[in-house]
Amino acid sequence: MSKKRYRIESGCPQCGCTFTTVLSHEEMLEKYGDVPNIDLECGECMAKFTKKTEEACPEWATDCKLET
Ligand SMILES: [Zn+2]
Repeated sequence: MSKKRYRIESGCPQCGCTFTTVLSHEEMLEKYGDVPNIDLECGECMAKFTKKTEEACPEWATDCKLET
């Protein structure tokens, strides 16, 4: 199993804060899988928004396609 960690970097469109989420390969598969966009939730204002996978986490956008 891969021990690689994926960093999802995002900026909230509502309050402007930026945050980073770090997930393992398994967690990425479980939460998102091979999707073009990922849903994120701001930890500050709890706004929900969507970001392109390749922008939020380019590594995952590449690796998830290698998996399938
Ligand atoms: Zn926010």
